[in-house]
Amino acid sequence: MKGSLHVYNSLSGSKEEFQSLTAGHVGMYVCGPTVYSNVHLGNCRTFISFDLIYRYLKFLGYKVRYVRNITDAGHLENDEDAGEDRIAKKARLEEIEPMEVVQRYTVDFHQTLAKFNTYPPSIEPTATGHIVEQIELVKAILEEGLAYEKNGSVYFDVIKFNERERYGKLSGRKIEDLIHNTRTLDGQSDKRNPQDFALWKKAEPQHIMRWPSPWGDGFPGWHLECTAMSTKYLGEQFDIHGGGMDLKFPHHECEIAQAEAVNKKAPVRYWLHANMLTLNGKKMAKSTGNNILPDELFSGKNTLFSKAFSPAVVRFFLLQAHYRSIVDISENALEASEKGYHRLMDALRLLEDLAPSTPAENFDQDAWLDCCYTAMNDDFNSPILIAQLFEAAKQIQAAHAGQQTLSKEQINTLSEGMRGFIFDVLGLFVEEQASAAHETPALDTAMQVLIDLRNEARQQKNFALADKIRDQLAAGGIQIQDGKEGTSYLLNT
Ligand code: AMP
Ligand code: ZN
Repeated sequence: MKGSLHVYNSLSGSKEEFQSLTAGHVGMYVCGPTVYSNVHLGNCRTFISFDLIYRYLKFLGYKVRYVRNITDAGHLENDEDAGEDRIAKKARLEEIEPMEVVQRYTVDFHQTLAKFNTYPPSIEPTATGHIVEQIELVKAILEEGLAYEKNGSVYFDVIKFNERERYGKLSGRKIEDLIHNTRTLDGQSDKRNPQDFALWKKAEPQHIMRWPSPWGDGFPGWHLECTAMSTKYLGEQFDIHGGGMDLKFPHHECEIAQAEAVNKKAPVRYWLHANMLTLNGKKMAKSTGNNILPDELFSGKNTLFSKAFSPAVVRFFLLQAHYRSIVDISENALEASEKGYHRLMDALRLLEDLAPSTPAENFDQDAWLDCCYTAMNDDFNSPILIAQLFEAAKQIQAAHAGQQTLSKEQINTLSEGMRGFIFDVLGLFVEEQASAAHETPALDTAMQVLIDLRNEARQQKNFALADKIRDQLAAGGIQIQDGKEGTSYLLNT
């Protein structure tokens, strides 16, 4: 019994039963990175959260079209409609082409997410690849009378839109408060009202990222690309739109306004927002310097932590919190996750060696499996799922220690369930052999002696000795792995 999936919809502020627009299919759009710097661990948390969601939808059997964009133009420095384009600024500082900046950090983004074992999206469109679609969208909004052109720029008229459809429905902001709280313009802006936002900006002579348009040379406003690309690839209405909590306003609010202005219907059924990763209690952010890069964490080359943590352990750490909760990263928390991760991996290995016997009476494997689904069906509750996986690990450890036995059926359900939820849903993975092993031939020699001794013990059916060798090595951070090609070892990093 899989039960039904419920998701927390930021739009309604409540958990709702998930029903896709087309049976068996899901369209999901997630705002991607602005590729002007290396992705920090906070960015990664959001993309890993949506990787979990994508994986679980697939696990349930949905055919998912997952669209995640690359912002390579139009995102100005201060998130509002002023300042330099972030990519152009980096290009100027580094004296390279803007597209070199884009290429460099897009590659970094892909490589970093691959280390975390995230699935690539089905489509990864770029803002600069969709200028035509964005210009068409601006034209359509102008035709609706909900935008105005001034000096080569086009602005969305929030007040007029609000007369037709409520502006602020996602973030819960009221137009009166927005009018009251938005700082007054200094007279240099072309906006009629300060809360209006740019759909198209005129390019000043020094602005290099520019395209011709009916309003002269310019570039698209940041919010425009996501509406243009989500509509193009997922339709006027689609199932899920995601992003970090900090994008709710103004970015997602503006996306809703742009789409509703033209299509006159809500573009998205379920708005999902992932919460922030914090460091020392403050949001991890590029701009404040309060951040750590994933590679700094993996290599141990950083001033924050005394040791290195591997990608699988960091992924596990992030998934031990619900995607809507704030997580603060700390050495203690990472160390606890490291232990937990190895406990699960050890349990999987022990399970392979367990001989079926009479069933454990205090363990109902079907109820256990139901609990795994129930956890994930409750708005992708990965921490509860992980608690269930630890419960399974406890049963396996008890059987391994001879305190109970497990039946063939119990072993099969545990094996299939654990593998499915650990590898397919949580996206965890067995760490690759640590490169240190290849750099220390003496360790290789010593390990080969131990592996041979263990194999001899097994041949002589002295399983107590064989297990002792394996378990004592595991306790010291060395995992013995039996595979088709023979036995190898792995250092826990
Ligand atoms: P950006 O490249 O700034 O547009 O950010 C890419 C994604 O990372 C967005 O969905 C942000 O919401 C998300 N993000 C930024 N900082 C954090 C953080 N500290 N924790 C979690 N997600 C974040
Ligand atoms: Zn977006």
